[in-house]
Amino acid sequence: MIAMKFGGSSVGSGERMVNVAKIIQSYISKKPVVVISALQGVTDTLLSLSDDFLHRRKEEGQKKLNQVGEKHFEIIREYIKDTKRASEIRKKIEELMTQLEEVAHGVYLLREFSPKSLALVSSFGERLSVPLLSGILQEMGTPAKDFDARQLVSTDDEFLSAGVDMKTTCSQFKKYVFPVWKKGVVPVITGFIGSCREGLTTTLGRGGSDYSGAIVGACFDAEEIWIWTDVSGIYSADPRIVPNAKGLSSVSYEEASEMSYFGAKVIHPKTMMPAVMKKIPIRIKNTFAPKDSGTLISKKTMTKGHPVQIVTAIKKLDLVSVQGSGMIGVPSISARIFSTVDRAKVHLFMYSQASSGYNMCLVTGNQESHRLKEMLECEFSHELKIGALDQIGILSSMSIVSVIGSGMRGTPGIAGAIFAALGDHSLNIMAIAQGSSQLNISMVIDESDADRAVKILHDAVILKHFENKVGS
Ligand code: ASP
Ligand code: MG
Repeated sequence: MIAMKFGGSSVGSGERMVNVAKIIQSYISKKPVVVISALQGVTDTLLSLSDDFLHRRKEEGQKKLNQVGEKHFEIIREYIKDTKRASEIRKKIEELMTQLEEVAHGVYLLREFSPKSLALVSSFGERLSVPLLSGILQEMGTPAKDFDARQLVSTDDEFLSAGVDMKTTCSQFKKYVFPVWKKGVVPVITGFIGSCREGLTTTLGRGGSDYSGAIVGACFDAEEIWIWTDVSGIYSADPRIVPNAKGLSSVSYEEASEMSYFGAKVIHPKTMMPAVMKKIPIRIKNTFAPKDSGTLISKKTMTKGHPVQIVTAIKKLDLVSVQGSGMIGVPSISARIFSTVDRAKVHLFMYSQASSGYNMCLVTGNQESHRLKEMLECEFSHELKIGALDQIGILSSMSIVSVIGSGMRGTPGIAGAIFAALGDHSLNIMAIAQGSSQLNISMVIDESDADRAVKILHDAVILKHFENKVGS
């Protein structure tokens, strides 16, 4: 059995859904279980219309709401010709749209949009897309049934990035989905969402449908998990920045986690967790070029002689620095810094500390850095007052450029090549981190230099090895 997840761009229109249905049909002997995202752009629209309602722009919000509904009704009109089926699906979409309108109205009245409400609003995208794909499959002669993952995926109540209870989830899948699938019906399940113990809607984080795909794969003990997207796998760098980037035929779970965490947008970082747990390979495939073999993510990595697989960049970051003579040799300072980060609910992309202990820098999203700075100032108000700490600083418009590959482990000279290449081009590095796993060297550099740095490093540490291999 194969778990197949199709992303928003793959199901972005009726025509694309038909293409997806054909792909599913061509692999019907693999007994697929399907997970899909919302139609392309719908989750973003749901968030923006809620923001309109929250900020009293009711008309604008209502307009967007109607557009969301129309996008789905149009697909029914054009692609579902069986009148009984069409009317059933229309009814489902109408009900969902009524509910969505009620929730949006609630946001308007209450003037609040908590993580709980945000999760509920965002869940509508997937709930609306699933009946359509299931209907199109049936229309094309393949028995299919839509499922709302809130009845299946059991999570904690971290509403916008929920943790999944795999044991309960798998038993729900066995109870509700398995019997349907066993009869030869293709289950089509909403990605991205789940529900917590109180029955409230949760989401697995933006882009989380990949993770849902892997959860399904793990519950079904799938042969493989296929993530269908709009590119033919993972590339050695973003091809929009580096046109001669190479397609990677295989990467290890560890490498894929690092890559996704450090900015390669092809797969959600959490996707690897259920797959590793059950040792299931993940394949990234392109819905627009289904014959391409894509990238295989498994225990193994690509050929030897490729110490580095990929160069990535994350942008829109700020660097918050804490420094002062009062930090030297005082371990409690680090503990207090991290507990402040935790209280501020800020995501740390990277941190590094000078060995003197005089300075610690924390890299966060640019939306969060000021909140962290203020909370650190509050936590260390005494130290700041007596001069034990200097002002807490922020360097804005930063990026992290990462060089990733498990072959770097124990291969000397990579760090030298990286820094020499950047130095030759006069690119300044603000901070550096290398985990002891030696899989990743990350550097904080000015955002305006990020693309140039990616190109330079790609030439210096990836292309060089490809050329050496070809030449050898
Ligand atoms: N629809 C959700 C999002 O846009 C989940 C996903 O696409 O994976 O984030
Ligand atoms: Mg998506």
